[in-house]
Amino acid sequence: MKQTKFILSEKEMPTSWYNILPDLPKPLPPLLHPGTKEPTILPPPLFPSAIRDQEFSQERYIEIPEEVQEIYRTWRPTALHRAYRLEKALDTPAKIFFKYEGTSQAGSHKPNTAVAQAYYAKQDGIKRMTTETGAGQWGSALAMGCMFFGIELKVYMVKVSYNQKPYRRILMETWGAKCVPSPSPDTEIGRKILAEDPDSPGSLGIAISEAIEDAGPRDDTYYSIGSVINSVLLHQTINGLEAKKAMEKADAYPDIIVGCIGGGSNFAGLYLPFVKDKIEGKKQNLRIINVEPTACPSMTKGPYAWDYGDVAGMAPIVKMYTLGHTFIPPKIHAGGLRYHGMAPIICHLHHLGLVEAKAVPQVATFEAGIQFARTEGIVPAPEPNHAIRVVIDEALACKKSGESKTILLAHSGHGHFDMAAYDEYLSGRLEDYEYPDKLVKEALAQLPVVDYAEA
Ligand SMILES: *Cc1c(COP(=O)(O)O)cnc(C)c1O
Repeated sequence: MKQTKFILSEKEMPTSWYNILPDLPKPLPPLLHPGTKEPTILPPPLFPSAIRDQEFSQERYIEIPEEVQEIYRTWRPTALHRAYRLEKALDTPAKIFFKYEGTSQAGSHKPNTAVAQAYYAKQDGIKRMTTETGAGQWGSALAMGCMFFGIELKVYMVKVSYNQKPYRRILMETWGAKCVPSPSPDTEIGRKILAEDPDSPGSLGIAISEAIEDAGPRDDTYYSIGSVINSVLLHQTINGLEAKKAMEKADAYPDIIVGCIGGGSNFAGLYLPFVKDKIEGKKQNLRIINVEPTACPSMTKGPYAWDYGDVAGMAPIVKMYTLGHTFIPPKIHAGGLRYHGMAPIICHLHHLGLVEAKAVPQVATFEAGIQFARTEGIVPAPEPNHAIRVVIDEALACKKSGESKTILLAHSGHGHFDMAAYDEYLSGRLEDYEYPDKLVKEALAQLPVVDYAEA
């Protein structure tokens, strides 16, 4: 019998997250305060104390609270699959594995951090949280997390998505969250933008500003972010630690790990425990490929520079590959892959030569997603389609060279709420977009001037 799924028992689920900070060959650059431009921490009135500690912790393994583990076990451990049917269709000697996060109740990896963040807020006696969401993946994941801990949630959803994509909004409301289109009349910044342009379609940058403005002055409210920061990547390592154990059960170790990156949390969560092996010199040939859209090529076209985390320049300044905080994302379907920067940990690893990056155009990613759906049966979200494109290309390269490499795909979620995008592809209306170099240059002229000298 060929074994197709490698699943840990609930008892085998990891009970700690892996923190890569103490294992980095060079320390991660700090966050800088947007005003003083001196090293800073996550703003205390907005984040749980535990999250602020985790952000710069030097502890290698951080225990997952028992109550968070209990909720994780409602869908975790998630399965590692061997994609025999895709391998056969490609006629490749490569062995393709994928770790699938689409079986969480929200359909993606995002609840791994949403549940932890809601738990820590509850520990601090917080009754209410705010956040922003684009197409609704993050808003719905946090709605589920808050539901489990009895926390009220208000989600500012980018207006154009709120109007065009109602299903994730309804999902949030089903779990008990309140969701408003952003810009909204509920905040000062929202009212200001609406006064200037009542038809503003909104943007993630505006929604972030609204969520922060709402939480800032209130003692009972925290703000929450779904990707990019160190603690979010930390919470996602539950997936990589499971993957490592499951690969052992499959008696395999990857030669190549591939995933998609928006803010970078799902993919880093999968690969950080494997990067540890690489840093320790045990797996020097391991390749890790971060895949992004050609429409939002921060890693492949942006410089490694200090930039603001948000549009308004209110968030800390971060050292990262960036398209500039004034970057306006083109309307591509992978809504989760449109941030102007990237998780500092991923950028640092790339700068140190430990991981690679690649950009792929949209139409080819859907072609790959369809091939995945027609072999493995799972309809992937548009985000992991980017990674699947590169997995297929690497598997086809193996066919040419005759090498039997082991490829591990981070499959971050299903595409059941993204059928309109599939419809566009299937009817031939989907188009490619390459972000112009000229716009990158223009946006980079707006980078903050920082004279902080790294050790
Ligand atoms: C949000 C999302 C992403 C991108 O976010 P990361 O923080 O880069 O992981 C990728 N895939 C899915 C399914 C998502 O919902």
